[in-house]
Amino acid sequence: MQFPESSVASPLSEKGSNKRHFLGYKPQFYLQCPSDEAPIESLWEIAAQRLELLQEIDKLRSRNSSFQELASAIEKSLFLRRHQNEYYSYEDIIPDRLSDAETRDVLSHYLLRLAFCKERNAQVWFLQNETVLFQWRLENSAPPQIDALLDQLQSLCSEEEISLRKVVKNLDQVSEFAQLYHRLYQKLPNSMTLMLYQVPFEQVPELVRHRSVIIRSGYAYLFPEQLTSFLVSRFRSLLSKNLGVLRKMVHVAEEQEQLKLLLESLRESQQLFVNQFSSYSLEAAEKSGKAIHLEDLPQVMFHMPLCMFRLMKRLEQNHHLKHGARLQLGLFLKGCGLSMEESVHFWKTEFSKGGISSDKFDKEYAYAIRHHYGKEGKRASYTPYSCMKIIQQRPSAHEEHGCPFRELNSNSLDNLLQTYGIQDAECRASIVQKAQEGHFQVACGLTMQMKKLGRLTVSEGTASTEESDSHSITTHPNHYFFESLARKENYSPGSDNSPNRERRH
Ligand code: SF4
Repeated sequence: MQFPESSVASPLSEKGSNKRHFLGYKPQFYLQCPSDEAPIESLWEIAAQRLELLQEIDKLRSRNSSFQELASAIEKSLFLRRHQNEYYSYEDIIPDRLSDAETRDVLSHYLLRLAFCKERNAQVWFLQNETVLFQWRLENSAPPQIDALLDQLQSLCSEEEISLRKVVKNLDQVSEFAQLYHRLYQKLPNSMTLMLYQVPFEQVPELVRHRSVIIRSGYAYLFPEQLTSFLVSRFRSLLSKNLGVLRKMVHVAEEQEQLKLLLESLRESQQLFVNQFSSYSLEAAEKSGKAIHLEDLPQVMFHMPLCMFRLMKRLEQNHHLKHGARLQLGLFLKGCGLSMEESVHFWKTEFSKGGISSDKFDKEYAYAIRHHYGKEGKRASYTPYSCMKIIQQRPSAHEEHGCPFRELNSNSLDNLLQTYGIQDAECRASIVQKAQEGHFQVACGLTMQMKKLGRLTVSEGTASTEESDSHSITTHPNHYFFESLARKENYSPGSDNSPNRERRH
């Protein structure tokens, strides 16, 4: 099996598991449910990373990309992730017990398995993209890793009725094997004896369909080069079966409140991903009639989630934002309906207040904005970031982007919440507490409820009113924004009819 050449070194080819990103770990069938204990924050981290990679794979699949293109994209993604993790001192974030790649790999796989086993569509989505990841790992594996996989399968023989046997054929006596080998690989086998793998023919439907295998007495005989197809097919059917079994038991895992929150967040993130192009594209915002425009910004600022509100405030004060913050806020505004021309005007006006000339802006900043709208470079139209992505992409010391529920200490968060309009100290304390416990998206959901209800009864650190749902989780800043606007009675973008219209100036 030849892996396509790439300018980026394969993560699997790097020596030592510590050097690998856990998503580039060796292929496995995930037969053993993990029994490791891990801090909930670490679980959020690794689950989010796996989900994001599967989403990247899914995007490429939906464009009918070839396996070579998929493989190259996975390699590049893992290469960048590993270096990003080093840059952000990932090992400091993830405690020691999760520092080995295998534990992270198994745990993250099972978390997503738990999250997506409940619904048929989610099951299929997970199955398809995990299978691509497995196949990519397989293509990058050395012979001992393949042998270990085969041993794993053999151990399942009795219960799974998998039968795999190595046989040696002498090509003098069975020339049809040599002919088939020549047809498939345009060369002759290296020796006159050939090692073959005998499996029940129904376990390699792809090979049978393409007449790439010789069948005798109900068994197909595979060349070593064909093992990938067999192993991928086994992976898919084992995972499919296990998802069905897990579906009946997932309620047991969900009895743990923190795990339940994580699984729900993964499901919501996934749902938003599936709907993202229709939900948060500029075109969709325009079509829905919900799009906001430049003149609406002052009055809708307090409907933005805290991460965007904070950046708007910073921009208002400093008349400048660093690259990460411009990207986070710029894509969010795009998803709210701001056109490219409006965006350029918006940033130019703000930056000019800080002394940046029109010329300098055009030279240094305008290109990036046009790029986000797909008018420059590779002309990909970028979509706004989800909460998972924002929470994961941690800013360095002098940057302001990211999720404030994660990035700010208690005092700064409390001050920001006050500026945001949450005047009740007890309410703020309950939000800060959620953030300190690592429930960033729950803290954000709670913030929206507090703003909506004005004042809540707070019991045992959790807001409780007839209307409040203490488990409301924010999964996407644009979702928060449109939800908040929808809750504001009589508001319509571009009009003066909204009650309590807030002004920035
Ligand atoms: S939870 Fe999401 S929307 Fe809320 S502040 Fe964090 S990143 Fe923004």
